[in-house]
Amino acid sequence: FFRPLEKIASVIEIYPRGIAGFARYKELMDIEPEIADLPGAREAGDLTGAIRFEDLHFGYESGREILKGVSIDVRPGETLAFVGPSGAGKTTLLALVPRFYDPTAGRITIDGTDLRAMTVASLRRNIGIVSQDVFLFGGTLRENIAYGDLAATEDQIIEAARRAQLAPMIAGLPEGLDTVVGERGVMLSGGQKQRVAIARAFLKNPPILILDEATSALDTETEREIQAALDALSVGRTTLIIAHRLATIRHADRIVVMEDGRVTEMGTHAQLEASGGRYVRLSAA
Ligand code: ATP
Repeated sequence: FFRPLEKIASVIEIYPRGIAGFARYKELMDIEPEIADLPGAREAGDLTGAIRFEDLHFGYESGREILKGVSIDVRPGETLAFVGPSGAGKTTLLALVPRFYDPTAGRITIDGTDLRAMTVASLRRNIGIVSQDVFLFGGTLRENIAYGDLAATEDQIIEAARRAQLAPMIAGLPEGLDTVVGERGVMLSGGQKQRVAIARAFLKNPPILILDEATSALDTETEREIQAALDALSVGRTTLIIAHRLATIRHADRIVVMEDGRVTEMGTHAQLEASGGRYVRLSAA
């Protein structure tokens, strides 16, 4: 009874935009058991979130490399915004952090340990993923926020909902947290679903966050609330964002510009602006 739930909890909330993206990650979830623990893999324990990408190469098919030698050093607690044209490999790069795939060459370490030396489940306990196409299952709002965490207390769930700015919505529902959501219940808007994903991440409290920022249009008020909740969520966590909003990009500690599977520029907004390179042209676009 417990193990399947644990499995759901350890599996991933990462669904990039669009149906194609969704199908792609749905597929990933299905093949997830195939990423097996290597013999001798250890529990990751509580990581601090120093992530190193070391000359990383990866392709989905042989003969077509998508990542062509990516090296990045991320300090614990740092926020990195990944930008670049569609197809540059941003989503692919970040999908390697929870080990949806393993690199074909090079490696990723966290706190100095190769990801492949850790058990997949213990690695993923250290990673929270918030994306725009959130998976809600047919159940109550409480169950959807707890997301398989049987140890979550009522207080913790309420606190996570509050920090994700879900409290006003919950107060407006006749059955509050017991309201059934999804196809058989109350349909949530895109903005509300994103806040459920944020609440899940608050509850999970991981040292590493992966955010796939929404491209879908939200009204200004909703956008501001979600931005505030995400800002609060990223405090004290290593945060990797596939960024679409200029405000996010400007506030990141560093910006990583990716093109055709490579990092072409990296630095603060001010540094990249001063260098007058590709970033300036991208942000003007
Ligand atoms: P976007 O901003 O549009 O999401 P991206 O920079 O995140 O782009 P990726 O989604 O990582 O780029 O895609 C990089 C390349 O990998 C693309 O050419 C894409 O077609 C290919 N690709 C992505 N997922 C798969 C997959 N599951 N199988 C085969 N090829 C894939």
